[in-house]
Amino acid sequence: MRNALHLIAGSLVEGGSGGFDSLNPSEPTQIVAKAPLGTDAEVALAVNAASEAFESWRKTPGPGKAERLYAWAEAIQARAAELAEAIATEVGKPIGEAKGEVGRCVAILRYYAGEPVRPSGDVIPGLANGILQYSLREPLGVVGLITPWNFPMAIPLWKAAPALAMGNTIVLKPSEHSALCAHLLAETAVAAGLKGEFNVVQGAGPAGSALVQHPDVKAISFTGSDATGAKISVACAQLNKKFQTEMGGKNVAIVLADADLAQAANLVAAGAMRFAGQKCTATSRVVVESSVSGKFIEELKKAIDGLPVGNPLEMATAVGPVINQASYDKLNAAVKQGETIHQVAAPNTGYFVSPTVLGGVGPEHDLAQNELFGPVLTYLEAGSLDEALTIANQTRFGLSASLCTRDIRAALTYIDRIQAGMVRVNADTTGVDPHAPFGGMKGSSSGTREQGAVAKDFYTQYKTVQINP
Ligand code: NAD
Repeated sequence: MRNALHLIAGSLVEGGSGGFDSLNPSEPTQIVAKAPLGTDAEVALAVNAASEAFESWRKTPGPGKAERLYAWAEAIQARAAELAEAIATEVGKPIGEAKGEVGRCVAILRYYAGEPVRPSGDVIPGLANGILQYSLREPLGVVGLITPWNFPMAIPLWKAAPALAMGNTIVLKPSEHSALCAHLLAETAVAAGLKGEFNVVQGAGPAGSALVQHPDVKAISFTGSDATGAKISVACAQLNKKFQTEMGGKNVAIVLADADLAQAANLVAAGAMRFAGQKCTATSRVVVESSVSGKFIEELKKAIDGLPVGNPLEMATAVGPVINQASYDKLNAAVKQGETIHQVAAPNTGYFVSPTVLGGVGPEHDLAQNELFGPVLTYLEAGSLDEALTIANQTRFGLSASLCTRDIRAALTYIDRIQAGMVRVNADTTGVDPHAPFGGMKGSSSGTREQGAVAKDFYTQYKTVQINP
């Protein structure tokens, strides 16, 4: 058991009204970390530290900012094994994927370390001769980051790295289910020489809400459920505060009759079940062309049976537990709503949920409409690509999608018509490269994108300059 602390002005500190425990979802009697429950007071201290650091950070020349971000990447790399083990223990992510997450953190920091010296802004021809007109990107100031538990290090970093690279300073409010991961991230930031530029307030919803409300926080970048995202959007709109909300999905995989069915089954099984279906991009609906449905189900059963369920710390494990009792209860209630096509046994301890494929419901059913965030896949059939696309688009979400086919014309039709921010062909719905734009359409996002060069759009504001000599 560790103590997970706040990070304020470069110091790891206690503070708040009481505390909370972060539990091991594989063995919930085990407390992974005890953390202080941040309140308005800790948020105010952290925002103050970030405000004080802002002027000097924004004026730090590009190479100086790059040096801190490279140092942060090195600090994470140096503790990679320990950080991956913390992710596996605290949020139940299988260790192979947890190592991948830590590697992604390093890649993200190295990518954005180059950003402060890359060209930014445009020279714009003037209406009159002889004037110089150009646009500049300026940082916003103190930015509040509110993050979920499922990528407890990568999501904070895919927000913090572009924010810092563009000259902002930060207060992060991580999930209460990943307090240790946030604490360890804070330790690596300190090791990299960051002080008030990056602050962390541990806590639950009220600490996030205090961050949104704080007048010196100029923008909020949120990732989490659509229910919380909606509250944050309303609050930010009322305060006229810049915000981005990246939320859930009901991601679809379409399998056409001409697809390599064994390959398609492996992709669908991996997308739906790995990390117990707890990626925002996890496959939660599969729409299969009716003529191959029987054959595909047989392949899918084999593929799911090939994904070991068990202790996330074991390298072979593909499916660990779900995060908490509420999620465990919700999923076990949901599986009773459909007809079981296939189910794999899971350990009878902790928050393990059996990987399950459910059929017997139509595309309008709850099982095909609402995010479950667990290893439960809803099985649907369609008579044609056209019908499959209609079903695929029939949800309020639009995060990621996949199509399995060998027909390039079908792939092009799907790319044109599918309503999703991340669209994949013969690949599962998860696993977007860390330097490519990431985000959703419709109810999955407020419309901005994270990661890659496009992330700097959120963390900057334009100034248009005209000089008449
Ligand atoms: P959540 O909405 O419960 O919590 C997210 C964060 O918001 C936490 O830090 C929480 O403490 C905070 N919070 C809760 N109430 C708040 C309030 N009123 N004001 C301010 N902050 C508040 O989500 P979760 O369970 O941690 O994460 C799972 C969800 O995240 C899923 O829906 C998943 O699809 C989504 N997600 C989306 C992406 C993406 O990029 N689109 C990535 C990962 C996860």
